[in-house]
Amino acid sequence: RERARDILESVEGRDDTRLGVEAMDLLDAYGIETPQGEIVDSPGDALDVAETIDGGVVMKIVSPDILHKSDIGGVKVGVENEDVYDAYEDLITRARNYQPDANIIGVQVQEMVDLDAGVETIVGMNRDPQFGPLLMFGLGGIFVEVMEDTTFRVAPVAENEAHAMTEEIDSAPLLRGARGRDPVDVDEVTETIQRLSQLVTDFPAILELDINPLVALPDGAQAVDVRLTVD
Ligand code: ADP
Ligand code: MG
Repeated sequence: RERARDILESVEGRDDTRLGVEAMDLLDAYGIETPQGEIVDSPGDALDVAETIDGGVVMKIVSPDILHKSDIGGVKVGVENEDVYDAYEDLITRARNYQPDANIIGVQVQEMVDLDAGVETIVGMNRDPQFGPLLMFGLGGIFVEVMEDTTFRVAPVAENEAHAMTEEIDSAPLLRGARGRDPVDVDEVTETIQRLSQLVTDFPAILELDINPLVALPDGAQAVDVRLTVD
């Protein structure tokens, strides 16, 4: 909580409050699991980070002006060490082409999460003028707009309520392991919903927060992408 406060204070009064960088640290401070990784601002540093991570990495453009990174080709999955330099330059070029005056913070180099073994979900919060902090849980990733399979609660939620959210979406059978797949760690998803609930309850300055995707795995759940707006 202390650490979360420090992070939020460090961004207070900043012009651009749609945070990408600090958002991951904030989740981490509340015990929400995030993939190993770092944000760097040179190809050399990107390679240094990639070399500390086993196998390929994911590289993403980090800019407050680019909200949907994959829409501009700003997410590269499965990058091998020898391709890190080129990938870095290409991400920056794509961002510049998209918006020449974009504020580019750098590139995030991230551990790969095994999407095939998991289910992409979304956990979010929006402050509603009438109801207050509305938590949302649903199917995430590329399906989120198409399926609109979501459920809502007002924060804070108790464990049984958070758990109910994971059971009442239409895609709930996917979480329980449809078609011979391993079921995902629903307890960890429930836990993540509760931690997010606690975070936004503790900090009213957080106006909006979306984890998309939260990859629910057979063992654990990983917050792969997060978007945050603070007051
Ligand atoms: P954005 O939503 O801004 O396009 P994301 O970080 O959510 O960017 O990445 C887009 C998609 O790329 C994700 O929904 C996921 O399918 C895939 N992806 C992102 N990061 C990882 C990762 N670390 N491991 C595996 N797949 C990833
Ligand atoms: Mg995303």
